Amino acid sequence: MELLKKRILEEGVVVSDQVLKLDGLLNHQVDPELTMEMGREFARLFAGQGVTRVVTVESSGIAVAFATAYELKVPLVFARRKKTLLADPDALCERVPSFTKGIVTDIMISRQYISPDDKILFIDDIIANGDAARGLIKIINRSGAELVGLGVVVEKCFEAGARTIREQGVRLESLVKIKSLADGRIEFEE
Ligand code: 5GP
Repeated sequence: MELLKKRILEEGVVVSDQVLKLDGLLNHQVDPELTMEMGREFARLFAGQGVTRVVTVESSGIAVAFATAYELKVPLVFARRKKTLLADPDALCERVPSFTKGIVTDIMISRQYISPDDKILFIDDIIANGDAARGLIKIINRSGAELVGLGVVVEKCFEAGARTIREQGVRLESLVKIKSLADGRIEFEE
């Protein structure tokens, strides 16, 4: 998506060789027109696959996952970050380390909103080491639903997440691939 690359170059802030701040587009502020465009692109990439639900993790994935679900005319389910220690027998949970926060969080989806009949399209904002994505993929697998694929807005190719998830046999499509953030420069992979 050329428009997305342009906006990333204009508004992205390289924090370090590993981290790109995208608060203006993804992680704090959302541009509705650009986000709907992303949703259309994911809907186009995964058209004809019989997707029944779009799934994401709160909170930064929600806007683009909503746009995708709107285009595909299916519900959006977001995994919640669990804040209670009370066991919920109806919930599928996984513990995932957070790349940016340096903490571990538990994510959960109620069995009410994911079933073995579902064909799931998983949408996320950024993939780095892939821990968050692997956690949600485990939840989807344990639910018995079929994972049609994973769509991410930004793939950081210099970190292992996307590669290892593709090696698991999951179809992973990204709208933009970043090859390097070295020397304060954003370099895209063509
Ligand atoms: P992972 O589990 O793949 O290592 O990291 C995934 C999550 O960490 C993403 O959903 C995103 O919220 C956050 N994250 C990872 N790398 C970056 C980054 O370079 N910039 C920002 N803004 N968030 C990131």
